Amino acid sequence: MTGAPTGPPSVAVIGAGWAGATAARLLHDAGCGVHVYEAARVAGGHSRSEVLNGVVYEPEGPHIFHTSDQRVRDFAVRHGMGRPYAHCGLTHVFLDDDDEHGRTLSWPPQVDELRGLPLWPAIERELAALPEHPSTRDFASYCVGVMGPTLYRLFIEGYTVKQWGRRPEELSARFAPGRLGLRTDGVRRLFRDTWEFFPAEGAQGVIESVLRPVPGTFGEEVTADRFPDLEEVHDAVVITAPLDAFLRRPGELEWRGIRTVSRYVPVDGPEETATAGYIVNQPSLRVPYTRTVETKHATGQRIAGTVVAEEYPGADARHYPVLTPDERNERGNARLQREIREATRMRVFFCGRLANYDYINQDVAIAQGMACADEVLAALRTGPRV
Ligand SMILES: Cc1cc2nc3c(=O)[nH]c(=O)nc-3n(C[C@H](O)[C@H](O)[C@H](O)COP(=O)(O)OP(=O)(O)OC[C@H]3O[C@@H](n4cnc5c(N)ncnc54)[C@H](O)[C@@H]3O)c2cc1C
Repeated sequence: MTGAPTGPPSVAVIGAGWAGATAARLLHDAGCGVHVYEAARVAGGHSRSEVLNGVVYEPEGPHIFHTSDQRVRDFAVRHGMGRPYAHCGLTHVFLDDDDEHGRTLSWPPQVDELRGLPLWPAIERELAALPEHPSTRDFASYCVGVMGPTLYRLFIEGYTVKQWGRRPEELSARFAPGRLGLRTDGVRRLFRDTWEFFPAEGAQGVIESVLRPVPGTFGEEVTADRFPDLEEVHDAVVITAPLDAFLRRPGELEWRGIRTVSRYVPVDGPEETATAGYIVNQPSLRVPYTRTVETKHATGQRIAGTVVAEEYPGADARHYPVLTPDERNERGNARLQREIREATRMRVFFCGRLANYDYINQDVAIAQGMACADEVLAALRTGPRV
């Protein structure tokens, strides 16, 4: 390990996404010696943004920052997350097999728009018959309980089969409530949090600003077999990496990955775009990808060009934890956490979406980074583990 600090208390932070960057910065500001180890050549993790022919785009998928947590908001804003934004979702649906072109509707579905569809009489009957409390047995039961079978088929079923590579009945209902709903109030803004931002250059510059004073080694994956090196210089380690890969035992946890195909599209004017909105879901099985993403809608960048990405699910990558009704992967992850703690003299802390195997947004990743920094400081006050 080159460039790592030598004087205690010293903390290694593995991973420079939101969780690792936040923990690293707060520990640095509290006076710890901190060194970040990041596998990629740049910081940012899944929230990373890049530039293609001058156009800002998101190679790992679209990232809208929204939160109701004042401390998280203040931290992000202090580092440049300052541009208010209000995201409105869109979905392109085919009403039946004879619907050649389909139509673009709001996401979540808006009752006002649905009234104009030929399917409305069936939808209306089903909405009137919804149970007071949707079943939480599995994802399919929950969705049908919230919107009825017709809307479930139009908006959810095909998308879920494509996105997760399995039937909605095989998925947990746990991640559904925050992401699903039927709108009757005409409000098209997707998120209901107090604050919502989209920086003009995406999240990249903000995360780099968080990490600015913290030394780091980039472009090098760190796995558990490096513990002896790390123990030479660090008292504690914060791990934000996926734990099956960290232990070099791929396959012990299930993940779902996406392949994002981004292409530059020339357009005539600086305000022109190529698709209907920032994100357009494609729930139909007729379309091989799950959605298009055109970040220019969110950045408001004025440039005679744009980048449109198509997201193809099923790639060999760790984008999404797979939450099944029996919670087998969460149990597996807890087992790997115990094993890793036993494998080193350092105090070990797990933080973020991958190491906690947790389907979380950026604001929660930041909150976990904050909580983790507090825990590390409390633990180091009691002395390094030997
Ligand atoms: C497609 C997609 C869309 C999303 N959309 C949104 C959205 O709109 N709004 C929102 O708030 N959230 C969104 N999220 C969630 C958001 O990406 C995460 O909450 C956030 O990025 C989690 O940050 P993290 O630091 O925990 O993990 P990550 O961002 O994944 O960072 C982990 C870092 O660790 C590094 N790493 C991994 N293994 C190693 C290793 N062995 N050694 C060294 N480094 C390693 C990785 O390279 C990475 O940089 C989305 C996620 C995905 C996948």
